[in-house]
Amino acid sequence: MKLKLADLIDNLVDAKVEIAKFKDILPKRATEINLLKDQLEKQGHILWETPYYFFAKENGEKDGPYCQRCYDSNKKLIRLQSPGKNGYWQCNECTSGYKDSTYSAFSYTPIASSRRF
Ligand SMILES: [Zn+2]
Repeated sequence: MKLKLADLIDNLVDAKVEIAKFKDILPKRATEINLLKDQLEKQGHILWETPYYFFAKENGEKDGPYCQRCYDSNKKLIRLQSPGKNGYWQCNECTSGYKDSTYSAFSYTPIASSRRF
């Protein structure tokens, strides 16, 4: 009888250890599930307009543009920057560059105009 009780206590300890493992895993899984839900929700709102992505907001407005490379490889929405406002867009995450339909290589740049010979 004493041996059986010892076995039961051992089993109970094992079970408690297993439960402790799940207590550790469950919050991580919940976080992962929320992240995936968020990604799925975003996928329904992502618009492809060559050469980059836009995000369609609930009110119908478009937000962006966002980097094609970052979204396709990591599902990250990285906002593109266009310092020259000349149709050339750059990603600060992966350094990809994009030229849209308004791109002009001959746009005004203050640095070039200040050069003297
Ligand atoms: Zn990028």
